[in-house]
Amino acid sequence: MSEPGAGSDLAGLSTRAEVHDDHFVVRGQKIWTSGAHHADFCFCFVRTDPDAPKHRGISVVIIDMKAPGVGVRPLPELTDRHHADFNEVFFDDVVVPRDHLVGPLNQGWSISAGSLAHERGMMWLGSARRLDGTLERLFQLGRQQGPDGRRIGDSARFRDTLASLYVDSQAMWFMGYRGFAKFARGHVSPEHSVLKLFGSEIAQRAARLATETLGVDALDVDFQGWSFDESRGPVPWMRQYLLTYGGTISAGTSEIQRNIIAQRVLGLPRR
Ligand SMILES: Cc1cc2nc3c(=O)[nH]c(=O)nc-3n(C[C@H](O)[C@H](O)[C@H](O)COP(=O)(O)OP(=O)(O)OC[C@H]3O[C@@H](n4cnc5c(N)ncnc54)[C@H](O)[C@@H]3O)c2cc1C
Repeated sequence: MSEPGAGSDLAGLSTRAEVHDDHFVVRGQKIWTSGAHHADFCFCFVRTDPDAPKHRGISVVIIDMKAPGVGVRPLPELTDRHHADFNEVFFDDVVVPRDHLVGPLNQGWSISAGSLAHERGMMWLGSARRLDGTLERLFQLGRQQGPDGRRIGDSARFRDTLASLYVDSQAMWFMGYRGFAKFARGHVSPEHSVLKLFGSEIAQRAARLATETLGVDALDVDFQGWSFDESRGPVPWMRQYLLTYGGTISAGTSEIQRNIIAQRVLGLPRR
């Protein structure tokens, strides 16, 4: 989806697909494409009618990542310079068969709503499971000695924050089950924005609690109080904290989720 000039404003995308009888010719660039360096195919939002209003001229095509003209350039992340998950992807006159079109021509905008709601809903499952692991590690941290020599769990602030995170994590599981049940019944619901917002922000609060508690020890890669990220193994709490910022940006930033919740879930007027 994302391009250098189209992130939150996805409808501003400019990667062009010229429509021919039995194929498209795709030209343009995507950015922040997670996992493109491993992918066999990509699900790509392209502009098929440049003269239509910007939400109407978009289509979705599936592109073979090994097709001539596809270029992938990894983008190292600030949090982990040796593990690039991101890429820039370049399309230089890539020929895409016509039957790789997903849904009707020029109807990609409605596909994006379903696809993003699905991504946000599924992110709940990942973040709720990961949060359980993070909370378990925070409980372990509470039993350790802090930088001031006292048991970390003896601090009322630590205990109160951890208790509130635990309550929120349980609320997230239950909201997630409700959202998942609706999804299984075929409802594509903007409520998934609530899960995405809530999940990404709790994860950030949890990592911040450890980072603030440990002070400079949070930076120490040899310190025993590791956090744990399933895909990366043990990571220092500070890195875990920095990684949580990605969660508040991907699949639509927290500000965008708040806009969606205000307008499409609560029905508040646009200002
Ligand atoms: C970990 C991670 C993985 C990602 N993976 C992918 C991927 O696989 N594929 C893909 O296509 N993209 C991916 N992205 C990109 C992501 O979707 C975009 O970064 C995101 O949509 C924001 O777009 P932007 O970076 O262009 O920021 P911008 O849209 O330029 O936003 C900049 C700032 O302005 C704020 N802002 C913008 N518009 C509004 C508004 N209307 N109201 C209030 N505030 C606003 C934003 O909240 C943000 O703080 C990923 C990003 C991250 C961090």
